[in-house]
Amino acid sequence: MVVCPECESDIDVDADEVDEGEIVSCPECGSDFEVVTTEPLELTKVEDEYEEEEEEEEEEDEDGDY
Ligand SMILES: [Zn+2]
Repeated sequence: MVVCPECESDIDVDADEVDEGEIVSCPECGSDFEVVTTEPLELTKVEDEYEEEEEEEEEEDEDGDY
C-alpha cells in the first residue's frame, strides 16, 4: 500500500507486486505514477506527454537587436 502523492488516498499496490518503471494508477484521482523504487515503494507522477517547459521560454524571435 502506498499513498497517492496527488490526493493522498491509498493506492492498493504492493512493493511485491510491482517492478521499477511500472505504471500504477490512482483510483481516486486517476493520476498515473511510475514506480521509481520498490524498496521503499516510491512513485513519481507521470505527466501524460505534458512537459512544463514553456515557463522558461523567453522571446527568442528577435535575438541580436543591438
Ligand atoms: Zn490520487
